[in-house]
Amino acid sequence: MKVKENQEEIISYLEDSSNFKSGRAEKVFIPENEDEVFEIFNFCVKTKTPITISGGGTGTVAGRIPLDGVIISAEYLNKIIEIDRNKKKATLQAGVVIDDFLKILEKQNLFYPPFPTERTAFIGGNVATNASGEYSFRFGPTRNYVQRIRMVLTTGKILDIKRGEIFEKNGFIDYGLFKIPLPSYRTPDVKCSAGYYSKNGMDGIDLIIGSEGTLGFITEVEVSLIEELPPRFIMITFLKDEENIPEIVKKIKEKKDELEIYSLEFFDKRSLLFLKDDFSFIPEDTCALYIEGVNDTEKMERWVEFVEEIKIVETVIGDDLLNYKKLIDFRHRLPENVNSYFKKIGSVKIAIDAAVPESKFEELFRFYKKIMDENPNIYSILFGHIGESHLHFNLFPKNEKEKEIAYRIYEECIKKAVSLGGTGFAEHGIGKLKHKYLEMMYGKQGILDMVKIKKIFDPHLILGLDNIFPRSYLYQV
Ligand SMILES: Cc1cc2nc3c(=O)[nH]c(=O)nc-3n(C[C@H](O)[C@H](O)[C@H](O)COP(=O)(O)OP(=O)(O)OC[C@H]3O[C@@H](n4cnc5c(N)ncnc54)[C@H](O)[C@@H]3O)c2cc1C
Repeated sequence: MKVKENQEEIISYLEDSSNFKSGRAEKVFIPENEDEVFEIFNFCVKTKTPITISGGGTGTVAGRIPLDGVIISAEYLNKIIEIDRNKKKATLQAGVVIDDFLKILEKQNLFYPPFPTERTAFIGGNVATNASGEYSFRFGPTRNYVQRIRMVLTTGKILDIKRGEIFEKNGFIDYGLFKIPLPSYRTPDVKCSAGYYSKNGMDGIDLIIGSEGTLGFITEVEVSLIEELPPRFIMITFLKDEENIPEIVKKIKEKKDELEIYSLEFFDKRSLLFLKDDFSFIPEDTCALYIEGVNDTEKMERWVEFVEEIKIVETVIGDDLLNYKKLIDFRHRLPENVNSYFKKIGSVKIAIDAAVPESKFEELFRFYKKIMDENPNIYSILFGHIGESHLHFNLFPKNEKEKEIAYRIYEECIKKAVSLGGTGFAEHGIGKLKHKYLEMMYGKQGILDMVKIKKIFDPHLILGLDNIFPRSYLYQV
């Protein structure tokens, strides 16, 4: 095991993609096996030292950044234990970097469907946040592909759970080691990363997925795989009118299976302004739909027919490797360009990450557009995973007054999404930054129900403190 105690070495563990600045840690422990994880937990229990789990550090809500105590990093637990081609599954240690995993699978003509967007993340971090990825429109989030989790608890016990073995019954999930009560809230049926998962009859493994480092240290996971994907093409269709987008998207979604669509994304007019310098083909004053589908002549012909039916300004297609890669870059470049511009002008980003059921999407879309029209001074953009009724609505206030308004808007949007049966948190989680807003979604009782569960898994109350709910809540039940 390696232990880092020098603050200069520790500092990089006190960052992720959130811009959170209040991180502190005395030490970073980097275990090489489970026995060392036990040893570290034992030390922390005895000395009552808070301990926070660190993965690849790509999180957006400061989940891996502690306010005090020590850090345990998964980085040396980085072995791919097995890839079983016949059974199409892989067993990995928690610290395997997604990019390494994907490259090895590619050589074996296999694919990991969650295809997480941030490739430097670890598989353990992906499971702990239920990360979604580039093709989640087609395949869904990480949860759908996790078959087994092995997790070390602060009590010194191991929970090794396989999908399909333990289910909620009569309000409880019995893990053998202990029994936990199902929370009073239910996770909505939308893309969601809001606190502990809770559904009637749910599989016990699903509670662990998305629990943001609060229940135990995931050391190993088994995930399912599929055959490599067929060749794909990308089509970016530019349109003048943003008003018709929900209707067009509905029509495209009807063709999801027929045309094998992998992703369906939207860029509003203001977001395209951030891409104009890099991609000269973007026509003036347009918004765009980005579609990735199977590269098959017949299917592509049907696409062209469809595109001709809607009023488009222009369509760009990437169907050879070079253009395909260029258009992938189109999709990835926006968050980078936006973040660096607003950092330069000293603005903060207030990022609304809500998703709603498909039937309510149009209402949420119009709600966002109305806010944009009513607040022309606050720069805002709307883009993202429209196929999953999940858009990123980002606001960039320039001064304190605008910040106050932007935070009010943030709350209004969460309330709206929740009132439509959706979530305020589709993929970025809660971490240390969104406690108050999660409470708006599930109520205080819902949060206290999560606390009860946390206290059963981690009775010493040392692990992942301040993630999902503030530590003061631990003493309220
Ligand atoms: C540009 C960018 C794009 C992104 N896009 C997406 C996206 O499309 N979809 C999406 O869902 N997310 C996205 N994210 C967020 C982030 O990439 C994911 O949340 C990712 O899963 C975090 O993994 P990590 O290994 O970096 O974890 P960290 O950031 O290190 O940790 C995240 C959380 O997981 C816990 N954790 C980590 N490892 C373990 C473990 N072994 N056991 C228990 N708990 C653990 C930590 O305590 C922390 O609470 C994006 C981030 C960036 C910067």
